[in-house]
Amino acid sequence: MNLSMCGELADAYRSVSQRARVVSEAWGEKNLYCPNCSSSSLARLRNNTKASDYRCPTCSFWYQLKGQQSRIGDYINDGAYGAMMDAIRNDATPNFFFMQYELTSWSIRNLLLVPSFAFPTSAIVKRKPLSPTARRAGWVGCNIALNRIPVDARIAVVRDSHELPPQEVRARFRHVKPLAEIGRNERGWTLDVLAIVHRLNKSQFTTAEMYSFTRELEELHPDNRHVKDKIRQQLQVLRDRGFLVQVERGTWALK
Ligand SMILES: [Zn+2]
Repeated sequence: MNLSMCGELADAYRSVSQRARVVSEAWGEKNLYCPNCSSSSLARLRNNTKASDYRCPTCSFWYQLKGQQSRIGDYINDGAYGAMMDAIRNDATPNFFFMQYELTSWSIRNLLLVPSFAFPTSAIVKRKPLSPTARRAGWVGCNIALNRIPVDARIAVVRDSHELPPQEVRARFRHVKPLAEIGRNERGWTLDVLAIVHRLNKSQFTTAEMYSFTRELEELHPDNRHVKDKIRQQLQVLRDRGFLVQVERGTWALK
């Protein structure tokens, strides 16, 4: 993977966003590989949308590249709120590559992969509607709250200008892939509970410790009044999918 992008491609464009897109899109076509299979390249989809889309020629997995100059923090600015929520509910989210690049040198600082099946609806935060005087008045965008995505589904491909070995990226992708098999209506719960398990930051924990997040989960899922049952059920789902081991009744360990 070459971490320098071809900045000359930007010369033909004036708008900052268009320049960045042309350069990063061409870079992706030459350098991105598929984390889901052994394909060493991804094919760019020329679908005339504003997004930079790619498809794996071997396994057909769909990827979207989103670049920004600023550091990848807890929130990433995304498109329309309704469209992203619908995509998650219909299992039609792409796998995302979030890229941070240096504009002066057109070099890549960080590249973060988040698999399509790792977005709970709780990670999509509504922004304020655009003001009545805006060109797209009333339009509602969203932010993606990365800290609501379980940490093992935030997979570094490039970290601080260093590329991670592709076999490591693929191994991490394989580790979280069982989440894809959980039905889309249930998966949001599984992801929310897994994110909290990681926030405990303990190799072993109890169901009772998880209950202390009942209030938080109630706020994320206001239509469910049996949150404790749901926590217990999701811990079992995580065990069955290979994320947790049940040490004894009520005690769990990270696998
Ligand atoms: Zn593939």
